[in-house]
Amino acid sequence: EFGEISIKDIDQVAKTSFPLCMRHLFEKVKEDHHLKHGGRMQLGLFLKGVGLKLDDALAFWKAEFAPKVSAERFDKEYAYNIRHNYGREGKRTDYTPYSCQKIISVTPGIGDHHGCPYRHFSEENLRAALVRMGVSSRAVEDVMDKVLNRHYQLACTLTFEAVHGSSCDAGINHPNQYFIDSQRVLQ
Ligand code: SF4
Repeated sequence: EFGEISIKDIDQVAKTSFPLCMRHLFEKVKEDHHLKHGGRMQLGLFLKGVGLKLDDALAFWKAEFAPKVSAERFDKEYAYNIRHNYGREGKRTDYTPYSCQKIISVTPGIGDHHGCPYRHFSEENLRAALVRMGVSSRAVEDVMDKVLNRHYQLACTLTFEAVHGSSCDAGINHPNQYFIDSQRVLQ
């Protein structure tokens, strides 16, 4: 268990330990200062699973949205959903982060950034994203081979192995598992 993570550590662990689906959402919210609902859900629940506490989650989203969304509007339109995800509103269900299977099976619309990049990116965008993650050109070809055969989670597993220089025998089946396995390797 990696109990907690604070806002100040997020940028660092996003670079080292987020799977591509979450890195992409994280980069997008920093770039656009906004994310549509599907992206907020996918990244928000993942961050909760990583150990970001509710108050830090509210502060994170508020700060990232600030260039576009006033504090007042944020409190009115976005804070409820975040508290809801943490089980503090509505039915008080403690929502769990999405599995790979669930993320792979969605159909992102125009302007959406959620989903699984191995499944939903164009080949060109996926190759570029892998290179940015530091995957060697040889390993990129192995990953793309899995993608062409629709083995998206295996493609993600090969990416994990390439960037960590360490095997992942269990395979990747959950973004939070990717995170935990990465932290284990790096610590
Ligand atoms: Fe994310 Fe899973 Fe796709 Fe990897 S295989 S990018 S962890 S959804």
